[in-house]
Amino acid sequence: MNGISPLWGICPFNKIKDNLIACRAKSRLPENAKTVIVACFPYLLEDSQYKNRNISKYAVVTDYHNVALARLEKAADKLRTLYPENKFSAFADNSPIPEVRAACAAGLGVRGINTLLITKKYGSYVFIGEIVTDLEIKSTDNKTNACIGCKKCIDACPARAVSETDFDEKGCLSAVTQKKGELTAEEEDLMKKCGCVWGCDICQDVCPMNADAAKTEIEEFLSSPVSCISKGCELDGRAYEWRGRNVIERNIKIQQK
Ligand code: SF4
Ligand code: SF4
Repeated sequence: MNGISPLWGICPFNKIKDNLIACRAKSRLPENAKTVIVACFPYLLEDSQYKNRNISKYAVVTDYHNVALARLEKAADKLRTLYPENKFSAFADNSPIPEVRAACAAGLGVRGINTLLITKKYGSYVFIGEIVTDLEIKSTDNKTNACIGCKKCIDACPARAVSETDFDEKGCLSAVTQKKGELTAEEEDLMKKCGCVWGCDICQDVCPMNADAAKTEIEEFLSSPVSCISKGCELDGRAYEWRGRNVIERNIKIQQK
């Protein structure tokens, strides 16, 4: 797995089996799944790559779904050759696996109050993907820890989406910038406070556990950064492509008002 992801670990399937997410991809889980191989894909770039940035840092790099899935499928193919009797299914984001929970259970980091996985080396600037298998593999950890609880993310969130006990997924600016149709005046104001036309990084940027986050060494992410988008921008292969031009250009217009 080392050539696939710089940070990975093993979570026993029974640690997350009661928290599976209902989605179509669930049908691809191997019968009698025993192990989740969890991989993190760091995406933080050098500050110079974020000049005039108007989209979330995760969207500056090429669409991670493609990168993570291609890498995980490559690993799964090798595993299928080594263990022909076993099944291996790769997932990234569109996954029945509660990814943060699985990553914590694999010892890859802690869960932040902002609900994100925070790793020691890369902070929360990581994408998560996984291979689920019916092969039994020894786990790398079995504890789920929490972040240091400084509450800076709660105080800094312009949408008041973060609290100690709850996370308002729909109210988070990440979700607001993805909404179709007209936004309310309140939602537009929130977007302007953040300054982004896609996503929001505020709770990550204020998190002290991200202060020394290491930069990515993943070639695909280093090769094609786009930090600022405008009317008529290329959508192919970007993390916002799935949402379509209308929503992206509506958001650009809001930031220009
Ligand atoms: S991404 Fe932005 S809006 Fe969402 S919880 Fe974090 S600070 Fe709040
Ligand atoms: S800002 Fe503080 S409370 Fe929020 S996730 Fe980071 S360490 Fe945890």
